[in-house]
Amino acid sequence: MTKTDILMTGPMLPSVIESLDQAFVLHRLWEQADRAAYLAEIGPRIRGLATSTMTGRADAALINRLPNLEIISSFGVGYDNVDVAEAAKRSIIVTNTPDVLNEEVADLTIGLLLATLRQIPQADRYLRAGRWLKASFPLSPTLRGRKVGIVGLGRIGKAIAKRLEGFDVAIAYHGRTQQEDMAYAYHPSLVGLAEASDVLIVITPGGASTRHLINAEVLEAIGPSGILINVARGSVVDQQALIEALRAGTILSAGLDVFDDEPRVPQELIDMEHVVLLPHIASGSVHTRRAMGQLVVDNLTSWFSGNGPLTAVAETPYPIRST
Ligand code: NDP
Repeated sequence: MTKTDILMTGPMLPSVIESLDQAFVLHRLWEQADRAAYLAEIGPRIRGLATSTMTGRADAALINRLPNLEIISSFGVGYDNVDVAEAAKRSIIVTNTPDVLNEEVADLTIGLLLATLRQIPQADRYLRAGRWLKASFPLSPTLRGRKVGIVGLGRIGKAIAKRLEGFDVAIAYHGRTQQEDMAYAYHPSLVGLAEASDVLIVITPGGASTRHLINAEVLEAIGPSGILINVARGSVVDQQALIEALRAGTILSAGLDVFDDEPRVPQELIDMEHVVLLPHIASGSVHTRRAMGQLVVDNLTSWFSGNGPLTAVAETPYPIRST
């Protein structure tokens, strides 16, 4: 039986590449010097695309070079790297990797929150610089008595809330819809949630619909003792407004795992001693990245065995509805 041709946009885990190499004919776009010529040659044969939020985009330009494409299997629960509207228009299924990373991302979010409030990276730098020999580390802000607002109480947001319950803090949330089965206080307005909170944790999808949701007005509402934690996407926060708010003391601090133009981070943020900056690592353990990679593979093998996708995104439901 001839094997199906799959195109991969950027390097993924060796275990993913190995599995796909075994089951399919895997084409490596990132290794090609002349991508246009390569796509002209192999494009018509490609029936599946493996892509990732980290190492490649599946934009309309790429999708349209692949006339026989049936499925885009994307690594990551967020899929703002895929032009889903274009895929839906052509009845191409898009899959992501939900759920397998909920606990890991929630763990990291709590770690980032505590690191930001208790200044853990700063204290580590202080000790290594030999400064403890001269004076104790300055006292830090606290999580005690804080009101935590979660923007986006989805799969990961709920896992974060569950952990926060153990910290004995007030929890509230904002989303476009109230969730009747959730006991946390709901704020229909984001500014309203920010006003009622002094920690705001952002864990919505990225993309056009959430672009700059966290703007100057929201930051102002969190207030001068407030902390912003962003583990969603850089695009959800107006980065320039955040830099200005941190500079002016409009908010106290921020813990950021994601940025506008990754991996480039503005020098203004790097120069700020009071913020904690992480290189987009929320799901980045060996265990969880392997599980995500396996789901990328499983979606493709399931589809090409005729069993449909395992985790199709909402915009390209299965069975396929023609638009
Ligand atoms: P879900 O779809 O389960 O949850 C998303 C939540 O966001 C929902 O509760 C939704 O509520 C809310 N939401 C969506 N749009 C808006 C809006 N415009 N305004 C306010 N709330 C909104 O997704 P997951 O929890 O699985 O993942 C969330 C996101 O986390 C991912 O899309 C990704 O961007 C990010 N992420 C980041 C990682 C990292 O490494 N830093 C790792 C994993 C995920 P409602 O529909 O009621 O508005």
